[in-house]
Amino acid sequence: MNLDLLTVLWVTLLITFLLATAVLAVAWLGRADDGLVTWGWALLFNGGANLAFVLRLAEWPATSIVVSSVLTSAAIALHIQALVRFQRPRVPAPPVALVWAPLPLMLVLSLALVERHQLRSVLNSSVWCFQMATLAWLAWSPRLSGPREYGRQLLALSAGGLMLVFAYRVGLFIVADEWGDPLVVPPRIQAASYLVGHAAILLSTIGYILLQKERAYELLRQQATRDPLTGAANRRTLMEQLERSVSIAARNRQPLALLMIDIDFFKKVNDNYGHQAGDVVLCELVRRIEGRVRQHDVLARFGGEEFVVVLPATDAVGARVVAEDICRAIQERPFVVEGQALPVTVSVGVHARVPEAGPQVAGQMVAICDQAMYTAKQNGRNRVELL
Ligand code: GH3
Ligand code: MG
Ligand code: MG
Repeated sequence: MNLDLLTVLWVTLLITFLLATAVLAVAWLGRADDGLVTWGWALLFNGGANLAFVLRLAEWPATSIVVSSVLTSAAIALHIQALVRFQRPRVPAPPVALVWAPLPLMLVLSLALVERHQLRSVLNSSVWCFQMATLAWLAWSPRLSGPREYGRQLLALSAGGLMLVFAYRVGLFIVADEWGDPLVVPPRIQAASYLVGHAAILLSTIGYILLQKERAYELLRQQATRDPLTGAANRRTLMEQLERSVSIAARNRQPLALLMIDIDFFKKVNDNYGHQAGDVVLCELVRRIEGRVRQHDVLARFGGEEFVVVLPATDAVGARVVAEDICRAIQERPFVVEGQALPVTVSVGVHARVPEAGPQVAGQMVAICDQAMYTAKQNGRNRVELL
């Protein structure tokens, strides 16, 4: 295959500038931030670096060498900065010097070594290789918890691929023995590098945008399914999960248990200590309940200070044990709010049965459980009642 450097360069230039324009337009018009504007600037700088490379072919080697080298470094630094902005604060930012120092370094290197093609090429490509390694490492973020988004994988892979291209070029420059032409490497290899580099830029941009989309989707999913204050499941999620649990239990003829947990005299907490103290109590309560249930049990905030726990494959005896355990966990240690110890107790209603299948069953079970909780209130609070 005969790769013509100039054709590859023009195509790369055209697509990079189009991509930069599209990303910047979307970022500005859509008021998106999270680094998308910075990513657009990175693409623009990358296009600028390619344009500066063309000057080399137009017999302006020194200007071309200096400008294209510095712009390439700036483009990679901006890609890194865009990712740092987006990942903050989940991933700590690398030291500022690590991101930006390659720019002045590249300026000094290319000015000082403008005639020394071999040494300059080895050093330049080493710096870019290092910058790409930083980008790939940040994209991969090995210590990030949770499942790895596909956009992140794509971004890390393309940055890693480009890092390897630069590493390959360093090796190539070290062993090459014919120098003197500012193009340094045979145009065919230069064109192949540009082609791979360009593919990596396209893929990493897709990866970056996918990463943003995946993050936005996850945020919406959280907002739609979780209670914002306590992080417990919300009422809609509870009913969906409960209906699923009812149909599984009905099919397998297994018992299913529900707990309705209501804080005793919670209004007094708000009246005596303020609403914020009340909120702290709600959050701590959820943490304590979570510590007492199994991972596949569902804990949901049903109303203001009422919580429901779904216990699959649990009969009345087992559910009562869990309910009493929760009561004890809440009562045994006072809740500490702003240095004050608040005694908190709960009343728990329990309902367990082998449910029949049907659309009304989940709602009926919740209603019975609620009745059991009211019985616990009537019988003196801080206790468990079963219906
Ligand atoms: P009982 O023992 O009979 O359950 O008495 P109670 O005071 O707990 O019950 P009541 O239903 O009278 O009061 C519930 C209180 O819960 C009233 C409401 O202000 C408070 N509440 C509901 N949601 C929130 C919230 O998100 N934050 C705070 N701080 N308080 C809340
Ligand atoms: Mg209450
Ligand atoms: Mg209540």
